[in-house]
Amino acid sequence: KWKKIELTNRSNDELYEMEKTFNDMIDSLKDNYEMQEIFVSDASHELKTPISIIKSYTQLLERRGKDNPELWKESLDAIGSEADRMQKLVEQLLALAKNKEIEHSENVNITELMEKTIEVFTGAYDRNIELHDNGKPIHILGNQDQLRQVFYILIDNALKYSDHNVVITMAPHDNQIDISVRDFGQGIPKEERERIFERFYRMDKARSRNTGGTGLGLAIAKSIIHSHGGTISVDSRPGEGSTFQVMLPLT
Ligand code: ADP
Repeated sequence: KWKKIELTNRSNDELYEMEKTFNDMIDSLKDNYEMQEIFVSDASHELKTPISIIKSYTQLLERRGKDNPELWKESLDAIGSEADRMQKLVEQLLALAKNKEIEHSENVNITELMEKTIEVFTGAYDRNIELHDNGKPIHILGNQDQLRQVFYILIDNALKYSDHNVVITMAPHDNQIDISVRDFGQGIPKEERERIFERFYRMDKARSRNTGGTGLGLAIAKSIIHSHGGTISVDSRPGEGSTFQVMLPLT
């Protein structure tokens, strides 16, 4: 909220307090502005890579494409997958930018939502995703599409960064629901556990890129969970696996 202030008839103490508040505000605006600048420069960098790959393949085709059907196939595959990557990046950037404007007042049956999200993956992967819950439907107030996106990101990562099964538990505790997604993969070293929630942060850029990763998934998940009044965190044993835990307030 923007509020105008009146400076006449103020005591010295009040003026001193105001000066302090004002300077704190400047500091926080400056931090925000700098973070925004970093974000824009990271986003441009991430978009530049697929663009330059697409450009170099088109130049290659121009020079050597004539009577070279193999080069055509290779180039079109690469151009197609880089275009997919750009599309995904743009969609994810929009998801991050739009989050603040979204309504969070739908009545969402999140047990059913989780079951349906799991189904999408079991159709595509030959891996077991176990769901443990108490069999009763759990409802929360929120945005169904966004919550589906969070479940999708966590399950997708659990499958991408491990070769084993995934175990999901959903349990109500007091006024919250505790959702955890556990994998038995490579795990995440302690010093990386905060950073993986930052935008564009990837522990292993090459591996993440090969699996279609952009480094935005967990930043989106965090932003969505926070706007639902919840928290997201990770616990992990390197070499043994990771557990992502989401806590959301119950209706
Ligand atoms: P990405 O698109 O790269 O998967 P995310 O924001 O979803 O981006 O994840 C950021 C990074 O966190 C990943 O690149 C990966 O290094 C690490 N990470 C995420 N989930 C897991 C997991 N389940 N196990 C191990 N590492 C993970």
